Amino acid sequence: MTKLKEPDVTKSDRPLPKAGVLDIAAYVPGKSKGTHGQTLHKLSSNETPLGTSSAAKAAIETVAQNLELYPDGAANELRDAIAETYGLHPDRIICGAGSDEILSFLAYAYLSPGDEAIYSEHGFLIYDIAIRAAGATPVVAPETGLKTDVDAILARVTDKTKMVFIANPNNPTGTYLPFEEVKRLHEGLPAHVLLVLDAAYGEYVRKNDYESGIELAATTQNVVMTRTFSKIYGLANLRIGWGFGPAHIIDALNRIRGPFNVSGMAIAAGIAAVKDREFVTRAVEHNDAWLPWLTGELERLGLQVTPSVGNFILVHFPDEDGKRAVDADAYLLERGCVLRQVGNYGLPNALRMTVGSEQANRTVLQHLKEFLGQA
Ligand SMILES: *Cc1c(COP(=O)(O)O)cnc(C)c1O
Repeated sequence: MTKLKEPDVTKSDRPLPKAGVLDIAAYVPGKSKGTHGQTLHKLSSNETPLGTSSAAKAAIETVAQNLELYPDGAANELRDAIAETYGLHPDRIICGAGSDEILSFLAYAYLSPGDEAIYSEHGFLIYDIAIRAAGATPVVAPETGLKTDVDAILARVTDKTKMVFIANPNNPTGTYLPFEEVKRLHEGLPAHVLLVLDAAYGEYVRKNDYESGIELAATTQNVVMTRTFSKIYGLANLRIGWGFGPAHIIDALNRIRGPFNVSGMAIAAGIAAVKDREFVTRAVEHNDAWLPWLTGELERLGLQVTPSVGNFILVHFPDEDGKRAVDADAYLLERGCVLRQVGNYGLPNALRMTVGSEQANRTVLQHLKEFLGQA
């Protein structure tokens, strides 16, 4: 095969992305294959071990009979179903191809070159991508004890600041901000700064002092909450998420939204999934049982675990040759267990592990015991 030669061009002889685009570090998804093609325990992307609601699967099959028809671009029935389940007004909801798309809409609609947007030190990396793609400048606020630090964020607000992105709970740390802290953050921000509360794991949280963002998004003019069907609802493959916020913000986002951004299958599956409360309850119960089990067992192996309220945990490894996070990752991968390295989140000595099925959890634990020479 002859190799195509790169034409010898000077930069101006070809289309160039706008400023900032080539500074973006492309998102690296969790690995989905082990090294030997054996049965895999994929615990790298915080997917649910419970599969998908059978009602959602049945809904997809119905839509599959009419793939030639455009979907309802406004996703009216899905917004109604979400509104009913969460007690919201449907006009203040927007649906997207994953909540990632809502995060991008927010950045494109509210950020211009020269603007600054703040996110937290170990915050979800999609924020950095969305901010840079909009041509704006990311500003990173340091964390304290792997937790979002409200004072550090407020200290970084300048007259250029337009947005603040918080994942609550945060991925990959699993830590959360109590509602009092979120309110304090909101009160400290100028009224023209948009606060985005990403509650992708909100359904999993079992803490009395937690609030996902609905209250501030419902009662203020500058807060948007985003949610997803990818995690607890088990619909990551279909790409559906949603945002809830003040009418003026939802209006702006709808103006830049592609007219048919969510597919008919995603809409139908989302409606069925959001109504299947029994499925969600089972997922919460599974997590309530296995999150503390995993945390306790890993600590018994001498590993430090950051207390998590999500469906995943951050496990810290010794900074010791042969026992580092990268070594553990390679060891587990050899044995069909796929975890997530989080060096690109500034956590080179940790791995993130999704709470999996009972079998997956026990298998990882057994392999780690061997890895640490304790078996
Ligand atoms: C998984 C995740 C999302 C959801 O992404 P989708 O695009 O809805 O699949 C959003 N925010 C955080 C922090 C996540 O971990």
